[in-house]
Amino acid sequence: MDKVHALLELQERDLSLQRLAKELDEMPEKRAILAARAKIADIGKLKERTDTVIKHLDAAAKVIDDNIATVKAKMDSEQAKFVSGEITNSKELQAVSRELDSLRKRVELLEGEELAQMQKREDGLAQAAKIDAALAQGAEREAELTGRFKVRGSEILAQVDSEKRARTALLAALPEDIRTRYEILRSKSAGPVVGVLSDNMCSACRVGLPTKKIEALMSGPDLTSCPNCGRILVVRGL
Ligand SMILES: [Zn+2]
Repeated sequence: MDKVHALLELQERDLSLQRLAKELDEMPEKRAILAARAKIADIGKLKERTDTVIKHLDAAAKVIDDNIATVKAKMDSEQAKFVSGEITNSKELQAVSRELDSLRKRVELLEGEELAQMQKREDGLAQAAKIDAALAQGAEREAELTGRFKVRGSEILAQVDSEKRARTALLAALPEDIRTRYEILRSKSAGPVVGVLSDNMCSACRVGLPTKKIEALMSGPDLTSCPNCGRILVVRGL
């Protein structure tokens, strides 16, 4: 391949590489994966909060349980006194009986609290189960998106690979001075860096050139610089 065609072909490969990089960067799956991950993180925070609530409820239930056990132990001891026959004084017996009543009421109260606490715990566990289901669903969605991203992404990466190999071969086909100029121009600009002289204008900057400049270009080399934009200009050889 001659240098003019190699240069224009090289530019095509580079513009294609730019498009592929953009496509890879803007893949809808990529944004969807990020959104799915953000959602999973949010649900994870909710799970942490729910777990903390359940832990507190468990601790509170333990306190109530301990209280009930203490009061019941007290009741047993009062009960034992009552049936032992040691107390014969009726006033004392009445006092023990009143104490037993009061302890019984206390146990009833605590058991009521315990029931309410257990209900709260049930609600908390139901909430935790919902959160776990949402987390599993989120993970499934993320895996599905990642799978799609990998399939499409690897197709793009294969194209990138093939363009890069073509690029290397084309670069090798160019004389060193042109190769260096091309690479310097490319490092400064994202768009085309090679224009073709056509209809008295450079196809890259699309600025019409005065006749005198055209004449000078026509009497010069096949490849030169555009007098207007400084890009490499193909004067002839196509
Ligand atoms: Zn130009």
